[in-house]
Amino acid sequence: MFLQRTIQRPVEVEGIGLHTGRPAKLVFRPAPSNTGIFFVRNDLPGRPALAARADFVTATSLATTLGGPEFAVSTVEHCLSTMAAFRIDNLFIELDGPEIPIGDGSAQVFMEAIQEAGFVEQDCPRKYAYITQPIYFGDGEKHAYVVPYNGLRVSCTIEFPHPKIQKQQIDIDINEYTFSKELSNARTFGFLKDVEKMRAQGLALGASLDNAIGLDQKEVLNPEGLRYADEFVRHKALDALGDLVTLGMPLMGHLVLYKAGHDVMNRLVKTILASQDRFRLIELGSELPETDDLDPGSIWALREFA
Ligand SMILES: [Zn+2]
Repeated sequence: MFLQRTIQRPVEVEGIGLHTGRPAKLVFRPAPSNTGIFFVRNDLPGRPALAARADFVTATSLATTLGGPEFAVSTVEHCLSTMAAFRIDNLFIELDGPEIPIGDGSAQVFMEAIQEAGFVEQDCPRKYAYITQPIYFGDGEKHAYVVPYNGLRVSCTIEFPHPKIQKQQIDIDINEYTFSKELSNARTFGFLKDVEKMRAQGLALGASLDNAIGLDQKEVLNPEGLRYADEFVRHKALDALGDLVTLGMPLMGHLVLYKAGHDVMNRLVKTILASQDRFRLIELGSELPETDDLDPGSIWALREFA
C-alpha cells in the first residue's frame, strides 16, 4: 500500500517574483497526514492559509493564481508540478508575499529544494482518484481530457505559428525519474510583444532571459539557446501537471491536452470533480476497478462524451 508523503524538514527557496520583480521567498514545511497542500501568507495578519484547490483558482491568463485581492498567490504551477511528480500529499508552502519565486522559469529550484529536504512516508494510505470513464473539457479547438490508465501519463500537443515552436508533442509517464530528466528544467516562454504589453500594465516586471525563454517574431532571444528543441511543449506538460494538483488528490489516469493552457486545465479539473461517477477513490494495492475499453489516442471518439 502506498502511504501519504510529506518532506522531512523545512527548506527555503529564494528568488524574485515574475510580476512584481521583487524578492520572493518561500518555505516548504512538512504537514500532517490528510492535510493536503496549503499556501500560507506569512506576511499577512493571522497568517491565512489557502488550499491548492481548483475552486480557489481566480486567474489563469498568464499563470495560475489562487485566492482573491486580499490573499493571492500567483504562479503556483511550477512549484505544484514538482509535488505531483514527487508524490507529496501534505505540505505547507509559506510565502512572504503574493508570488512564488520564479527561479529560472522551470521547476528546477523547487525540485532541488524538496530533494534536499528529503521525504517521509506518513501513517495514512494515499487515496488516488482513479479514472474509470473519460472526462472531457473543450473550449473551441482547445481541449483536455482524462481517460483510464494504470499510472499517471501526460500527452500534450501545442501549436504556435512561430518558426521555433510550430507543432510539438510529448507523451510521458510521470514519475520522479521522468520528471527530473525530461520536464523539470523546461522553462516558461514568452513573446517579446506580449512582455512589452504586460510591462505597460505593471506586470512581468521581473521577467528576463534569466527566467524565461524570450521569443521575437523569428528567433529565440536567449544567448544560451534552448535546453531541448521541444522545450516549449515540455514546459506545457509541466504546467498541466502543476494545475492537476488543484484536484486535491493524486490522479491515476492519462491526461491528454491539445493547445490547453491554465484556463482549460482549471475547467477540466472542475469537470473531473463534478463527475463523481467517472472516477473512484482507491488505495493502491487494492483491486483496480473496471474501466471503459477505449482507445486513449482518439480525441474524436471522445468528443461524443463531451
Ligand atoms: Zn509555466
